[in-house]
Amino acid sequence: MGTSADQHLRTDALRASIRAAGLKVTAPRLAVLQAVQDNPHSSTEQVTAVVRAVLNGSSSQAVYGILAVFTGAGLVRRFDPPGSPALFECRVGDNHHHLVCIRCGAIRDVDCVVGEAPCLAPSDTSGFAVLTANVTFTGLCEECQNPPSDAIPV
Ligand SMILES: [Zn+2]
Ligand SMILES: [Zn+2]
Repeated sequence: MGTSADQHLRTDALRASIRAAGLKVTAPRLAVLQAVQDNPHSSTEQVTAVVRAVLNGSSSQAVYGILAVFTGAGLVRRFDPPGSPALFECRVGDNHHHLVCIRCGAIRDVDCVVGEAPCLAPSDTSGFAVLTANVTFTGLCEECQNPPSDAIPV
């Protein structure tokens, strides 16, 4: 973290983006947006833990509500990886995709392959006008493919 002057500028920027999304600025909303910016791909529980360190008494229910409002306003993107709770990130509007490690749950962003939505064309659209494609690639991250040798039981 930088100086308090940096934090002041940052809070101003967060305030501006909440306003730009047409929402009222509140202390819990500021804390939630900052937490998601600092910790991309966080679950509601993870965001709540970060927010609690700043604002005592924040409930996960309240954080859940704020994340839902942010998602609806396009400030935050919700991502539902297979077999784990919904995750939130501030990288919105670029139709990027995700790599998910099936062993440790590590998540990496992958840029949209063609640079604009939808990234992929389905073989049959059934008459739909396709807007976006959200691709989740699953596999083993680098660390899970090559566990350190001292982690192997003897
Ligand atoms: Zn892994
Ligand atoms: Zn992402």
